[in-house]
Amino acid sequence: MTDLRQTMGAEQQLKSIFKQAQGYAFDYADGAAERSVFPQPEALANLALFDEDMPNTNGDASSILQQLHQYGSPASVAQTGGRYFGFVNGGVIPVTLATKWLTDFWDQNTALQVMSPITSKLEEICEGWLQQLLGLPNTTVAGFVSGTSSAIFCGLAAARLRIYANQGWDFNARGHNGAPSIRIIAGRHTHGAVVKAIALLGFGLDNIEWVEGDDQGRIDPTFMPTLDDSCIVILQAGNVNSGAFDPFGEICDNANKAGAWVHIDGAFGLWAGGTQRLKYLTQGMDKAHSWSVDGHKTLNTPYDSGILLCRDKEALITALQASGDYLTSSYGEKRDGMMYTPEMSRRARAVELWAALKYLGRSGVDELVFGLHQRAVQFADELRAAGFDILNDVVFNQVIVSPSPEDEITQQILEYIQASGECWVGSSVWQGKKVIRISVCSWVTSEQDISRSALTFVQARDAICAK
Ligand SMILES: *Cc1c(COP(=O)(O)O)cnc(C)c1O
Repeated sequence: MTDLRQTMGAEQQLKSIFKQAQGYAFDYADGAAERSVFPQPEALANLALFDEDMPNTNGDASSILQQLHQYGSPASVAQTGGRYFGFVNGGVIPVTLATKWLTDFWDQNTALQVMSPITSKLEEICEGWLQQLLGLPNTTVAGFVSGTSSAIFCGLAAARLRIYANQGWDFNARGHNGAPSIRIIAGRHTHGAVVKAIALLGFGLDNIEWVEGDDQGRIDPTFMPTLDDSCIVILQAGNVNSGAFDPFGEICDNANKAGAWVHIDGAFGLWAGGTQRLKYLTQGMDKAHSWSVDGHKTLNTPYDSGILLCRDKEALITALQASGDYLTSSYGEKRDGMMYTPEMSRRARAVELWAALKYLGRSGVDELVFGLHQRAVQFADELRAAGFDILNDVVFNQVIVSPSPEDEITQQILEYIQASGECWVGSSVWQGKKVIRISVCSWVTSEQDISRSALTFVQARDAICAK
């Protein structure tokens, strides 16, 4: 081991591999706007070069980086270039990336305050700022998790604990066997991550009471069942296809009267609540009990950054209870991050979130989020002017495009666009029809990027329809 330790010691001291990585990183960043958005076939074929047996002996750090940049970088998706509109994948604000680099050198574990006073402090600051920015109740606590999927899981675990406790049932001690029943109420258009959490938590997918929505995918409150204190209601801030927001106020009022719990999944849409110009979309969301949101989508922090916000601290930390004699918890005085998350060891992701919030300020959040909306509107306008059907009201950053009433033609147009390398968009099914789905989610995307991408849609349609 001595030889290897000496080698690593020298690498650490000389820093040349870090400079090498930095050079590659800058190279990558400079090329991101003009390269093919999706990797070219040659780059994908070269991935076979990674197929090798596990090495028997230790390798060379510099050649590892070299291999990664030469064959790995071209096989990445140029998500940071400004013309990536697939799924709902955010860009990355420069200062948050620089923050990540710095804190990578810290290599902190944020489980306990005693492991990392600075990250504990910044988690606390983020918690307070998010409460203020989003206008949430002053009892709201935050758990910093890997993404919204995990955040939904935590929110529903807290809900389960509280709703059972209200029925006189100690869930942690007694579990599901013989427990009183809980009703799960969710919109027909709820995200797959919510469905996953419901299954993981043992509620049973067949037990979900689905609520029908309108033509935008919003829950129609007139279809809400009568609520009682055994209900967990899951609402949505930002439909993953249309970007639509459920009507929160009325449903939350009824839930609160009945003693039900409301979780709002706002993976990308919750940030509307932190803006001046789009805040109206989230009206009444402060009356819910828990909320899930991503830093890595709309807010453009690096992956993986999800946040669970919960007004019922006791329910959350009891649901995620952790114990062990060696855990010298300072709970009650200083913040131990693991009390609010399923994980124990975690990287210091809240530091990047802190940097994003500190850098943007309230006006910057408004400018960033409203800018995504404006460019989504521009995209929809240009496509409509070119004769494409836009199927949703573009209230946020999502656009649903129907290039053809025939699914087969839509598929061909989609594939043409994806292969062009000019931009990348995904597909979905909307009201029974295959559609192209656009998500404007990166601060980098300019008006020119939108026009260039809209032109690609036109070229794709012309090419396919000429056949
Ligand atoms: C992306 C998304 C999720 C899942 O979030 P991850 O961060 O990918 O785990 C859940 N709900 C909605 C509405 C989403 O857009």
